[in-house]
Amino acid sequence: MAPERTLSIIKPDATRRNLTGEILSRFEKAGLRVVAQKRLLLSRPQAEAFYAVHRQRPFFAGLVNFMTSGPVVIQVLEGEGAISKNREVMGATDPQKAAPGTIRRDFAENIEANSVHGSDGPDTAAEEIRFFFSTMEITG
Ligand code: ATP
Ligand code: MG
Repeated sequence: MAPERTLSIIKPDATRRNLTGEILSRFEKAGLRVVAQKRLLLSRPQAEAFYAVHRQRPFFAGLVNFMTSGPVVIQVLEGEGAISKNREVMGATDPQKAAPGTIRRDFAENIEANSVHGSDGPDTAAEEIRFFFSTMEITG
């Protein structure tokens, strides 16, 4: 099977608490490789566009405020079954429901400030990678 790629974001609650390295280490220990990366402060339009699928949800405004509240670190992760492997390492959306040893169980503050984002399928992975990275920025 060819290696797969997924988009990962270390969210503002985690960058604020200086957890970037610890979280990246979880990915690497799981066999996921960082093949592209950038640190930036999302603009409101960028955060709204990225989470457009949740526009009608009651938590949308809070989510956009949170995602623009500090820097994020965005990476493309590559590996066998990268999309599902990353979701496993991340744990459930709500840290109280996340399995022991997952990033969200160990680091998330709450269901909103939950430390990481990961693409949820092949179509969203391709779309989200294109949203943040050009082909030239991905080194394999
Ligand atoms: P992500 O897309 O960030 O990887 P996810 O796929 O586990 O997370 P989604 O349902 O796509 O969860 O929700 C996107 C994000 O919106 C969550 O990660 C979280 O930050 C926020 N969120 C989801 N549900 C709630 C909620 N009930 N209250 C507040 N924020 C929420
Ligand atoms: Mg999601």
